[in-house]
Amino acid sequence: GGADEEFDMLVLGAGPGGYSAAFRSADLGMKTVLVERYSTLGGVCLNVGCIPSKALLHSAAVLEEAKHMADIGISFGEPQVDINKLRDHKNKVIGKLTGGLAGMAKARKVTTVQGVGSFLDPHHLEVTLADGGKKVIKFKQAIIAAGSSVVKLPFVPEDPRIVDSTGALELRFVPQKMLIMGGGIIGLEMGTVYSALGARLDVVEMMDGLMQGADRDLVKVWQKKNEGRFDRIMLKTKTVAVEAKPDGIYVTFEGENAPAEPQRYDMVLSAVGRAPNGKKIGAEKAGVIVNERGFIPVDKQQRTNVPHIFAIGDIVGQPMLAHKAVHEAHVAAEVAHGEKVYFDARTIPSVAYTDPEVAWVGLTEDEAKKNGVKIGKGVFPWAASGRAIANGRDEGFTKLIFDEATGRVLGGGIVGTHAGDLLGEICLAVEMGADAVDVGKTIHAHPTLGESVGMAAEVYKGVCT
Ligand code: FAD
Repeated sequence: GGADEEFDMLVLGAGPGGYSAAFRSADLGMKTVLVERYSTLGGVCLNVGCIPSKALLHSAAVLEEAKHMADIGISFGEPQVDINKLRDHKNKVIGKLTGGLAGMAKARKVTTVQGVGSFLDPHHLEVTLADGGKKVIKFKQAIIAAGSSVVKLPFVPEDPRIVDSTGALELRFVPQKMLIMGGGIIGLEMGTVYSALGARLDVVEMMDGLMQGADRDLVKVWQKKNEGRFDRIMLKTKTVAVEAKPDGIYVTFEGENAPAEPQRYDMVLSAVGRAPNGKKIGAEKAGVIVNERGFIPVDKQQRTNVPHIFAIGDIVGQPMLAHKAVHEAHVAAEVAHGEKVYFDARTIPSVAYTDPEVAWVGLTEDEAKKNGVKIGKGVFPWAASGRAIANGRDEGFTKLIFDEATGRVLGGGIVGTHAGDLLGEICLAVEMGADAVDVGKTIHAHPTLGESVGMAAEVYKGVCT
């Protein structure tokens, strides 16, 4: 049959990319429909990603801090963890946010359709509804924001003790002994949560260091603080076999730091990466090119090879981060509306919300060295920060990377508590082309952790002394 309804803009997927694209499109006056398979908006980020992980990480940080308070004269009893209540709390946080999104969609008169969408041709999407019924939506333009899914290793069996990040966030039980497969941000954040709740950790990583992408000097500080959580950090090592037995999950390793015998675990978290959903949406029927890995290539205006179909977020490439998806969403919606804009961000920040946090943006020192870029740097150790010392957390440092020739800020990194929140100033400096004097001569409130950014600029070549 023919199309049931026609819209100016169809957005496929309601993650941070999709809902942002739909809201902006509606604000610009386009009649907009948002198609999402799940009953709540928010995608991976709100439902099984950024937000629930941070709800649990907050609890983990409070637990850790409470333990250390005894050193300064304040003791609590042994913490009693009720994981049912903790899970409820996390679910309430999600509910508040997804409920808020539903309200915002309604206020903007965005039509939401729940079901699995698949393109029929360049102007029609078929939606398979929850009850099995089908609906065809006709659209003038579309934005694909169908995101990514967890990568499953083929040799890992189905077992409730083997989880991905979604399973780990369900918080079904606290294992005594847990293996994290993949030493990236997601694995290490979940490890931080489970370790605070009482689990002993092992981590296995194929590369030669954890938290790839961050400068090694930042990661070193995190690692020193966290060594006590791990029995084994197995770098340059991979998992080759996983066997589920009644008394535990037995894992066999291969590589430089592999133990000879298979190891027994109560829980295994697979956090080996995410793959784009490009091949699951009938893109070929719309004529949209999807590459062999499942990513959809786009230009700087987020356009696919089909000029009236755009794509944004995890499905278009790395880094797979919510703030990148949102930024791309706004570009796509505005271009679709006829505005002459394009994706022109100088830099996309990264944050590991571990304890301490590790945050970096722009050019890293390791990258500069690798590519022979001449840089200068300014480093301010938190051991000299009054506020960090007062907080009892002075292990961190703040580093700015400068262009040797011009003194402009090209990047920076922070390791320490609240590093992610502090990073914003460095993002702004890079984006605005600020130099060491701009940042160093800006008066920062005392005593704050944020002062360390100004100090790192001041110490660079004694710029401000
Ligand atoms: P998604 O959020 O993946 O949304 C895509 C949506 O499309 C989904 O809701 C999906 O159901 C829907 N969909 C797909 N196909 C169809 C279809 N055919 N029909 C209908 N609907 C469909 N990023 C950060 O920036 N900060 C963090 O702290 C952070 N923490 C994370 C923690 C974890 C555990 C995980 C897994 C990820 C984390 N991320 C974080 C990454 C972040 O979640 C993603 O980058 C972000 O969600 C991508 O947004 P998106 O809109 O591209 O896609």
